[in-house]
Amino acid sequence: MTAELQHTVAKSAGFSGTSLHTGEKVALKLQPAPIDHGIKFKRKDLADEPMIDANIANLKTVERATTIGEGAVRVHTVEHILSALSAMGVDNAVIEMDANEPPIGDGSAAPYVELIKKAGTVAQEAPRRFFDVREPIHIESKGGALLVLLPDGKFRISCTQAGPNNRFTQFFSAEISPGLYEREIAPARTFVYYEEVAPLMEKNLIKGGSLENAIVVRGDAVLSKESLRFPDEFARHKILDIIGDLALVGARIRGHVIALKPGHAANAELARAVLKEHTKITALSGRRTFPPGEGGLDTNQVMEILPHRYPFLMVDRILGFEGETKCTGMKTVTVNEPFFAGHFPGHPVMPGVLQVEAMAQVASILLLRLAKTSSRIGYFMSADEVKFRKPVFPGDTLFIHAELLKARQGRLAKARCSCVVNDAVVSEGDLMFTFLDK
Ligand SMILES: [Zn+2]
Repeated sequence: MTAELQHTVAKSAGFSGTSLHTGEKVALKLQPAPIDHGIKFKRKDLADEPMIDANIANLKTVERATTIGEGAVRVHTVEHILSALSAMGVDNAVIEMDANEPPIGDGSAAPYVELIKKAGTVAQEAPRRFFDVREPIHIESKGGALLVLLPDGKFRISCTQAGPNNRFTQFFSAEISPGLYEREIAPARTFVYYEEVAPLMEKNLIKGGSLENAIVVRGDAVLSKESLRFPDEFARHKILDIIGDLALVGARIRGHVIALKPGHAANAELARAVLKEHTKITALSGRRTFPPGEGGLDTNQVMEILPHRYPFLMVDRILGFEGETKCTGMKTVTVNEPFFAGHFPGHPVMPGVLQVEAMAQVASILLLRLAKTSSRIGYFMSADEVKFRKPVFPGDTLFIHAELLKARQGRLAKARCSCVVNDAVVSEGDLMFTFLDK
């Protein structure tokens, strides 16, 4: 079996329309992008034309639609175009826009499918990234949404949607392929409940909203300019939204999503849980043997970079780097470590804070490498979401993984780190670094 390849659009293609929230005209253009680029939005209307990565780490709000952003820059209602790109097999693309929201079109993803077909797609010389579900993941929200992700060789979604008082209860289930998506999912339009949109209409918050781009449900009545496209159009649109929100994972999911009354908040939470699991598995499958002298750093090279010395050097060597943002270090924890004498007598366990120190040292190596080409240097500032999952004993070998999530021009960098012993995560945490001038 040949590996599935990444795809981008063959040429640029665009269209324009009305944005839902501001009611203004917006022009959108799809542009080809290189391998491993992912999907990024480019705000052509702002100075410096900032790019926003369509990644769950950039999720801002999930009220009614999905909004992502970086710094002060936002892009609203990203789910329909992301859904179409993901389902139609586009892994890498730039979405240029001259506004903060894509055109709403007819409230479905059909205009985006048309756009992607107009641009065409081409294979690229790198395998697609997949997330294979190994163990069930589930999300339950206060609002009554329940999402379960089960192992499956294909990407399937089964969705039950129910309106107020369980009116308009619908079910749809399918394996998501480009052909099926184009025919059965993409044409399904957004639907809203009159009671929910009436106050927004009064406040003029959905200037572009009309019966031409949404189905309005009022009591038992369904109002829209065009009659329903499918008897179960609502359930199909929910699936469209799930695909769009899960596209924020950045890897294609092989698994079966079972969704009851889903919404953007629950979808985003599932995307977050998937990414977390994906990061963990990628860390576990990383290299765990000594490199043949290339790519890594031995103890002396580590000490050339880090100022730490015995007993505070928590990295024996760096096994390897992956690009500029990822690396794995190693520490053999021996019974002669000074801390074991007091932590605890007769029951030696490596203190968790020293594992955090080990993570900080490995992350620092990444930052110091980057600093070589800049005038600023990163300092360890805070740790977040730190969890100690299993005790570390004398004789264990600690594999320390660090991945920089944000190390751009900003003042802050975040490193997602974990320590692994015998294929199990023993501790993890997000470490924040601040950049100061050298
Ligand atoms: Zn939608």
